Amino acid sequence: MGNTRLPAHFNHGAWNRKILNFFWIIIIVSVCVEAINSILTERPFKEFLLYFIIVPTVLLSFVTLIAEWGYRKRSKFTDYIIIGAASLIAGILVGVHYEMNVMYSSLFFPMLISTIYFEKKKVWLAFSLSLFIYLALSTFHPIISQLNDTMDQLSMTCILLTSTLVCIGIMSRGYEIWEDLKKAQAEHQELMVKSTIMEKQVKTDALTGLYNHMAFYEYIDVLILQAETFQNPFHLAIIDIDNFKKINDTYGHGAGDLILKRIAHTIKENVSNDDFVARYGGEEFVVILNDVSEELAFTLLDSVRRAVEDVVHPEVAYERITISIGLQTFRSGMHKQAFFEGADYCLYAAKREGKNRVITKESIQPQPVEV
Ligand code: GH3
Ligand code: MG
Ligand code: MG
Repeated sequence: MGNTRLPAHFNHGAWNRKILNFFWIIIIVSVCVEAINSILTERPFKEFLLYFIIVPTVLLSFVTLIAEWGYRKRSKFTDYIIIGAASLIAGILVGVHYEMNVMYSSLFFPMLISTIYFEKKKVWLAFSLSLFIYLALSTFHPIISQLNDTMDQLSMTCILLTSTLVCIGIMSRGYEIWEDLKKAQAEHQELMVKSTIMEKQVKTDALTGLYNHMAFYEYIDVLILQAETFQNPFHLAIIDIDNFKKINDTYGHGAGDLILKRIAHTIKENVSNDDFVARYGGEEFVVILNDVSEELAFTLLDSVRRAVEDVVHPEVAYERITISIGLQTFRSGMHKQAFFEGADYCLYAAKREGKNRVITKESIQPQPVEV
């Protein structure tokens, strides 16, 4: 049957309160039933009032108050005190209402109540107490002892034992369901983690660890929508490494990859966490700067350009490697394609004007007119 304990967060307190309320209800029902009985009985009223209403009510209330005390203490014995009280209540009900055979069924209460705790040992304790109380009553109670013989005692023991085993069976079934739920929850969590990792992998460039082309297009769509609503400025820079083909041809692709990684890292290090950096493809990167003026965007990108220029690359004989940057500010109503083409056009101008520079539309030199 395996482990039949419920997890630590199982709320015993709330259930113990319900059980105690149930005890008080039993007392009220007991008084009501005896009040009806007093009308039907032929016994003298005073004697009936004392032995069938006052004495049992006082006894039941006393036991319930002890259970209430145990509940308020909230110690590790609270559950045991409540099981003990349930057994005593069952004993009082059987002992006082001995004329009603149906009262023997109250001996099942302790087992049923202890099932709530989902602990086998508590169910077995309830069984032991119920059996003990029944055997004590059927041996020493002046009337019950005459009504029950050994055969009755044996039968009652079997019935109590069977019902205890049923309680334990129900508990084990509940525990099985609990385990299944836990497993399903763990599987669900694992799936969530996997899908989050996969989503990140799909949007990440494997070589540089930056966002990729796909993530860039997703991000730019959101930013354009935001900029149209809130009018917050943002800028797109396209960065291309200068003469990279020559680097690859001279020092090999492996060296080229190392440089790509180092430059990607330098770009990321020289913008703020709020800015977005992605590898657009090949040796081209994109940077999106948020909430800064055009002048500041230019200054920031020029500092990125200088930082890249200052990086040392031992694998290419300490040759300086530079980047060219085309910068475009988003203007309201601009289409995504026009926005990107604007930055690309500036990059093209930066290459044409000698590389290793940042170019915006405003800083493009007029081209000589061919005659
Ligand atoms: P320009 O200054 O005009 O940009 O000259 P360039 O040589 O850099 O020309 P271009 O940008 O067209 O060259 C791109 C080169 O980048 C071609 C390719 O060999 C190289 N490249 C693209 N992706 C990778 C990569 O993942 N690793 C390496 N090592 N090289 C790459
Ligand atoms: Mg290129
Ligand atoms: Mg290039």
